[in-house]
Amino acid sequence: MTTFVLATANAHKAEELRAVLGELDVQLLARPSGVADVDETEDTLEGNALLKARTLVNATGLAALADDTGLFVDALGGRPGVHSARYAGETATDEDNVAKLLGELNGESSDKRTARFRTVIAVAYPGGDSFCVEGVLEGVIAESARGDGGFGYDPVFIPRDSDGQTLAELSSAQKNAISHRGNALRSLAAALSAK
Ligand code: IMP
Repeated sequence: MTTFVLATANAHKAEELRAVLGELDVQLLARPSGVADVDETEDTLEGNALLKARTLVNATGLAALADDTGLFVDALGGRPGVHSARYAGETATDEDNVAKLLGELNGESSDKRTARFRTVIAVAYPGGDSFCVEGVLEGVIAESARGDGGFGYDPVFIPRDSDGQTLAELSSAQKNAISHRGNALRSLAAALSAK
Protein backbone atom coordinates (compact mmCIF):
# COMPACT_ATOMS: atom_id res chain seq x y z
CA MET A 1 0.00 0.00 0.00
CA THR A 2 1.31 3.46 -0.91
CA THR A 3 0.24 6.45 1.16
CA PHE A 4 -0.20 9.80 -0.60
CA VAL A 5 -0.79 13.11 1.09
CA LEU A 6 -3.02 15.47 -0.92
CA ALA A 7 -2.07 19.08 -1.64
CA THR A 8 -5.69 20.14 -1.96
CA ALA A 9 -7.72 21.35 0.98
CA ASN A 10 -10.81 21.10 -1.25
CA ALA A 11 -12.98 18.25 0.12
CA HIS A 12 -14.80 17.84 -3.21
CA LYS A 13 -11.54 17.26 -5.13
CA ALA A 14 -10.37 14.80 -2.44
CA GLU A 15 -13.65 12.88 -2.82
CA GLU A 16 -13.23 12.72 -6.64
CA LEU A 17 -9.72 11.31 -6.17
CA ARG A 18 -10.95 8.71 -3.69
CA ALA A 19 -13.71 7.64 -6.09
CA VAL A 20 -11.30 7.08 -9.00
CA LEU A 21 -8.37 5.62 -7.03
CA GLY A 22 -10.62 3.53 -4.74
CA GLU A 23 -9.78 0.27 -6.54
CA LEU A 24 -6.04 0.72 -6.09
CA ASP A 25 -3.94 -0.17 -3.05
CA VAL A 26 -3.43 3.45 -2.00
CA GLN A 27 -4.26 5.47 1.07
CA LEU A 28 -5.05 9.19 0.63
CA LEU A 29 -4.42 11.58 3.52
CA ALA A 30 -5.67 15.16 3.81
CA ARG A 31 -3.04 17.89 3.87
CA PRO A 32 -1.91 18.27 7.52
CA SER A 33 -3.31 21.46 9.03
CA GLY A 34 0.19 22.71 9.87
CA VAL A 35 1.26 22.70 6.21
CA ALA A 36 0.31 25.99 4.52
CA ASP A 37 -1.09 26.32 1.01
CA VAL A 38 1.72 26.80 -1.53
CA ASP A 39 1.84 29.95 -3.67
CA GLU A 40 1.59 29.01 -7.37
CA THR A 41 4.60 30.94 -8.62
CA GLU A 42 5.49 28.88 -11.71
CA ASP A 43 4.30 29.79 -15.21
CA THR A 44 3.13 26.30 -16.22
CA LEU A 45 0.55 23.90 -14.77
CA GLU A 46 3.26 21.22 -14.54
CA GLY A 47 5.57 23.59 -12.67
CA ASN A 48 2.91 24.56 -10.14
CA ALA A 49 1.66 21.00 -9.60
CA LEU A 50 5.22 19.73 -9.03
CA LEU A 51 6.02 22.67 -6.74
CA LYS A 52 2.98 21.85 -4.57
CA ALA A 53 3.69 18.10 -4.52
CA ARG A 54 7.39 18.51 -3.69
CA THR A 55 6.64 21.03 -0.93
CA LEU A 56 4.31 18.48 0.67
CA VAL A 57 6.86 15.68 0.38
CA ASN A 58 9.42 17.88 2.13
CA ALA A 59 6.94 18.83 4.87
CA THR A 60 5.61 15.33 5.56
CA GLY A 61 8.15 12.77 4.36
CA LEU A 62 5.30 11.05 2.48
CA ALA A 63 4.55 10.70 -1.24
CA ALA A 64 2.26 13.51 -2.41
CA LEU A 65 -0.35 14.31 -5.09
CA ALA A 66 -1.08 17.84 -6.36
CA ASP A 67 -3.11 19.17 -9.28
CA ASP A 68 -3.33 22.40 -11.23
CA THR A 69 -5.94 23.36 -13.85
CA GLY A 70 -6.29 26.17 -16.36
CA LEU A 71 -8.50 27.30 -19.24
CA PHE A 72 -6.52 28.08 -22.41
CA VAL A 73 -8.35 30.21 -25.02
CA ASP A 74 -6.76 30.24 -28.50
CA ALA A 75 -7.91 33.75 -29.50
CA LEU A 76 -6.35 35.11 -26.30
CA GLY A 77 -2.96 33.49 -26.86
CA GLY A 78 -3.69 30.84 -24.21
CA ARG A 79 -5.01 33.17 -21.52
CA PRO A 80 -6.24 32.91 -18.78
CA GLY A 81 -4.11 29.72 -18.56
CA VAL A 82 -2.27 29.30 -15.26
CA HIS A 83 -3.92 32.51 -14.04
CA SER A 84 -7.49 31.17 -14.45
CA ALA A 85 -8.47 31.46 -10.76
CA ARG A 86 -7.52 35.15 -10.49
CA TYR A 87 -8.04 36.29 -14.08
CA ALA A 88 -10.11 39.37 -13.17
CA GLY A 89 -7.96 40.20 -10.11
CA GLU A 90 -6.73 38.84 -6.77
CA THR A 91 -10.22 38.84 -5.22
CA ALA A 92 -12.10 37.91 -8.41
CA THR A 93 -15.22 35.74 -8.17
CA ASP A 94 -16.14 33.13 -10.81
CA GLU A 95 -18.68 35.63 -12.19
CA ASP A 96 -15.98 38.34 -12.49
CA ASN A 97 -13.67 35.96 -14.37
CA VAL A 98 -16.44 34.84 -16.74
CA ALA A 99 -17.46 38.46 -17.41
CA LYS A 100 -13.87 39.43 -18.24
CA LEU A 101 -13.50 36.45 -20.59
CA LEU A 102 -16.78 37.16 -22.42
CA GLY A 103 -15.82 40.82 -22.75
CA GLU A 104 -12.48 39.94 -24.32
CA LEU A 105 -14.15 37.60 -26.83
CA ASN A 106 -16.96 40.01 -27.66
CA GLY A 107 -17.64 39.95 -31.42
CA GLU A 108 -15.49 36.84 -32.09
CA SER A 109 -17.26 34.20 -34.21
CA SER A 110 -17.59 30.65 -32.85
CA ASP A 111 -14.70 29.32 -34.95
CA LYS A 112 -12.48 31.85 -33.16
CA ARG A 113 -13.68 30.85 -29.67
CA THR A 114 -11.89 27.50 -29.40
CA ALA A 115 -10.42 26.66 -25.99
CA ARG A 116 -9.37 23.79 -23.77
CA PHE A 117 -9.25 22.96 -20.09
CA ARG A 118 -6.05 21.23 -19.01
CA THR A 119 -5.50 19.52 -15.65
CA VAL A 120 -2.04 18.32 -14.61
CA ILE A 121 -1.64 16.00 -11.61
CA ALA A 122 1.87 15.70 -10.17
CA VAL A 123 3.02 12.74 -8.09
CA ALA A 124 6.20 13.19 -6.02
CA TYR A 125 8.01 10.62 -3.86
CA PRO A 126 10.39 11.10 -0.90
CA GLY A 127 13.34 9.69 -2.88
CA GLY A 128 13.09 12.57 -5.39
CA ASP A 129 11.21 10.75 -8.18
CA SER A 130 8.17 12.43 -9.65
CA PHE A 131 5.90 12.26 -12.68
CA CYS A 132 2.92 14.15 -14.13
CA VAL A 133 -0.24 13.05 -15.93
CA GLU A 134 -2.54 15.33 -17.89
CA GLY A 135 -6.21 15.45 -18.85
CA VAL A 136 -7.68 17.73 -21.55
CA LEU A 137 -11.18 18.80 -22.57
CA GLU A 138 -11.54 20.63 -25.91
CA GLY A 139 -14.41 23.03 -26.55
CA VAL A 140 -15.55 26.55 -27.42
CA ILE A 141 -16.46 29.56 -25.29
CA ALA A 142 -20.22 30.33 -25.45
CA GLU A 143 -21.55 33.81 -26.30
CA SER A 144 -23.19 34.05 -22.85
CA ALA A 145 -23.35 32.11 -19.59
CA ARG A 146 -25.83 29.20 -19.31
CA GLY A 147 -26.55 26.65 -16.54
CA ASP A 148 -26.38 26.44 -12.75
CA GLY A 149 -24.10 23.43 -12.20
CA GLY A 150 -20.35 23.19 -11.72
CA PHE A 151 -18.11 26.16 -10.94
CA GLY A 152 -15.52 28.47 -12.47
CA TYR A 153 -15.88 28.82 -16.25
CA ASP A 154 -18.39 25.94 -16.61
CA PRO A 155 -21.31 28.24 -17.64
CA VAL A 156 -19.41 29.43 -20.74
CA PHE A 157 -17.60 26.23 -21.79
CA ILE A 158 -19.25 24.08 -24.49
CA PRO A 159 -17.41 20.76 -24.88
CA ARG A 160 -16.55 19.75 -28.46
CA ASP A 161 -18.59 16.73 -29.62
CA SER A 162 -21.48 17.71 -27.34
CA ASP A 163 -25.00 18.86 -28.21
CA GLY A 164 -24.27 22.50 -27.43
CA GLN A 165 -24.88 22.44 -23.68
CA THR A 166 -22.35 24.16 -21.45
CA LEU A 167 -20.58 22.18 -18.70
CA ALA A 168 -22.83 23.97 -16.19
CA GLU A 169 -25.87 22.42 -17.91
CA LEU A 170 -24.57 18.86 -17.46
CA SER A 171 -24.97 16.68 -14.36
CA SER A 172 -21.78 16.19 -12.36
CA ALA A 173 -21.64 12.54 -13.54
CA GLN A 174 -21.89 13.68 -17.20
CA LYS A 175 -19.18 16.29 -16.61
CA ASN A 176 -16.84 13.86 -14.80
CA ALA A 177 -17.15 11.33 -17.63
CA ILE A 178 -15.61 13.76 -20.17
CA SER A 179 -13.82 16.41 -18.11
CA HIS A 180 -10.15 17.39 -18.02
CA ARG A 181 -10.00 16.49 -14.31
CA GLY A 182 -11.79 13.16 -14.87
CA ASN A 183 -9.40 12.34 -17.73
CA ALA A 184 -6.35 13.27 -15.62
CA LEU A 185 -7.62 11.13 -12.73
CA ARG A 186 -8.17 8.15 -15.03
CA SER A 187 -4.61 8.56 -16.39
CA LEU A 188 -3.31 8.75 -12.82
CA ALA A 189 -5.13 5.52 -11.89
CA ALA A 190 -3.65 3.80 -14.96
CA ALA A 191 -0.12 5.07 -14.19
CA LEU A 192 -0.26 4.03 -10.52
CA SER A 193 -1.68 0.60 -11.26
CA ALA A 194 1.13 -0.01 -13.79
CA LYS A 195 3.78 0.68 -11.08
P1 IMP B 1 -7.51 24.75 -9.80
O1 IMP B 1 -6.10 24.62 -10.23
O2 IMP B 1 -8.25 23.43 -9.80
O3 IMP B 1 -7.65 25.50 -8.51
O4 IMP B 1 -8.28 25.62 -10.92
C1 IMP B 1 -7.91 26.96 -11.21
C2 IMP B 1 -9.09 27.71 -11.78
O5 IMP B 1 -9.45 27.14 -13.05
C3 IMP B 1 -10.36 27.65 -10.94
O6 IMP B 1 -10.39 28.68 -9.99
C4 IMP B 1 -11.44 27.85 -11.99
O7 IMP B 1 -11.58 29.23 -12.30
C5 IMP B 1 -10.85 27.15 -13.20
N1 IMP B 1 -11.33 25.75 -13.28
C6 IMP B 1 -10.66 24.65 -12.86
N2 IMP B 1 -11.38 23.54 -13.10
C7 IMP B 1 -12.53 23.96 -13.68
C8 IMP B 1 -13.69 23.27 -14.14
O8 IMP B 1 -13.82 22.03 -14.07
N3 IMP B 1 -14.65 24.04 -14.67
C9 IMP B 1 -14.56 25.40 -14.76
N4 IMP B 1 -13.53 26.09 -14.32
C10 IMP B 1 -12.51 25.37 -13.78
